[in-house]
Amino acid sequence: MIVGTGNFLQARQYAFVYHHLTLRSMSITNELLNTVLREASREVSRKEFLTLAGRGLAVGVAAGTLASCQSEGPADAKAATTPTTGTPASEVNATTTYTSPGGQKVPSSEAVSPPAKVPTALDQPIELEKWKSDVDPQSGPVPTPLPPDKRVGYALVGLGHLTLEEILPAFGECKKSKPVALVSASPEKLKKVAQQYGIKPENCYSYETYDKLKDNPEVQVIYIVLPNSMHAEYTIRGAQAGKHILCEKPMANSSAECQAMIDACKKANKKLMVAYRIQYEPYNRQVKEMVRGNKFGKPKYIEAQNSQSSANPDHWRHKKALAGGGALPDIGLYCLNTSRFVLGTEPTEVFAYSYSTPGNPLFKEVEEVMSWQMRFPEGILVNCITHYNTHDSRFYRVNTERGWIHVDNAYAYTGQQLQTSHAEGPAKMKNQIVLSEKNQFAAEMDHFSECVMEDKAPHTPGEEGLQDHRIMEAIYQSAREGRPVKLTEVKGTDVFRGPEPKQA
Ligand code: NAD
Repeated sequence: MIVGTGNFLQARQYAFVYHHLTLRSMSITNELLNTVLREASREVSRKEFLTLAGRGLAVGVAAGTLASCQSEGPADAKAATTPTTGTPASEVNATTTYTSPGGQKVPSSEAVSPPAKVPTALDQPIELEKWKSDVDPQSGPVPTPLPPDKRVGYALVGLGHLTLEEILPAFGECKKSKPVALVSASPEKLKKVAQQYGIKPENCYSYETYDKLKDNPEVQVIYIVLPNSMHAEYTIRGAQAGKHILCEKPMANSSAECQAMIDACKKANKKLMVAYRIQYEPYNRQVKEMVRGNKFGKPKYIEAQNSQSSANPDHWRHKKALAGGGALPDIGLYCLNTSRFVLGTEPTEVFAYSYSTPGNPLFKEVEEVMSWQMRFPEGILVNCITHYNTHDSRFYRVNTERGWIHVDNAYAYTGQQLQTSHAEGPAKMKNQIVLSEKNQFAAEMDHFSECVMEDKAPHTPGEEGLQDHRIMEAIYQSAREGRPVKLTEVKGTDVFRGPEPKQA
């Protein structure tokens, strides 16, 4: 139970509440709930109520449980009122003392709810009493989670590293999405993970029973988190089962597979989004704004690197048939997709070089390193390198006419660091921009849920993934043939992207 519901009850606290109070069986007893509801439905003085329920209990339960019990209105209901409620601190009775059963005296202040604007619409944030000066960054806004029964239900396909380590925990920070079904070949994993995340045993599927998702109205979205070669088949079967598809990157193993996925989803009238989390991540979005707004003059060239060290030659990532390639489609894709996102335009030509150390079993089938250059309109150059056999390094720098913008840990799950440099008179100004981090997986899932709820096109649809595959195919061709390869000219900005995601 959370006692007191102020500024501190932000995203991380919410995640805790979601898992422990909502998804799992409520830890508040029915008896207590009934008492609170009974007392709330008749006119009682605050003092009388506090005496009945107990001070701490009353504050926590009245603010938390009652709110969720009364959340019947539709999610998109207009905020009819934004009442200001509460007791200013100046009106609170002076602190007295409370005597514990052991006889110790501790301070006792009158429990109140300070002034706050509480819009009735669930999707509008509660505005709490302000206490920080504008000199410091402001917290909030207060999260606006939808009640579980109003959220979009997801089936997770594949219970590997990404699903278990990132995606399932991220649902705790989602406001519009919830996990409702799992697909795996391992009954042991299914049983354990279903228990951990409150998923019904009847909503656990094997790959053989996958198509039966069609008969499960709780599932609206299928999230494909399988080896790359399986993305196309499970997307197409999922669309045929009448579900919207969120597919992990790389979208598939070839542009032909991507086209088949787009066609199948169109035919089934279902949405298809590629999980390009970077395009929903605040630091990278900030860079995009600065570059497109010519913050330090026009962009001239980008240098990007995404490297890590891999092991286990038996893993699917080292098998060409399953992975499609090595470092390029797995991690080099971030350099490619993020450069396109930041600039908004499309490359016209690529020139690449790749290498695999002879005799290293890890790179018998897939490339160890890929280094490539892309030419964008107006003479902008993008130099990228991706490596499967060096220590973890993920950054890019946009060099512009009058400065640069540099992101360390750019493609990581957390820990982005954004620095800029420009000249002011005799001084070189180096700034570090600090934003509040947001769970990238929660942001992308909630964006897709919003698209489903509001029948909108996703920001990173199948066409965005297809374009990356066309470019990766040209990169491989260039590396094979040792010459530059031209790409079909694409005019305009954000040609393959849907509308901008709403800022949460
Ligand atoms: P993983 O090997 O940890 O998990 C893959 C899972 O797929 C396995 O655990 C298994 O449950 C299932 N599977 C079904 N058939 C399989 C087969 N024939 N071989 C192996 N596994 C099989 O992989 P992962 O790291 O979770 O990657 C899954 C997908 O997610 C890949 O497409 C990968 O590119 C993508 N990914 C994306 C990000 C991101 O940041 N968006 C990060 C990591 C991985």
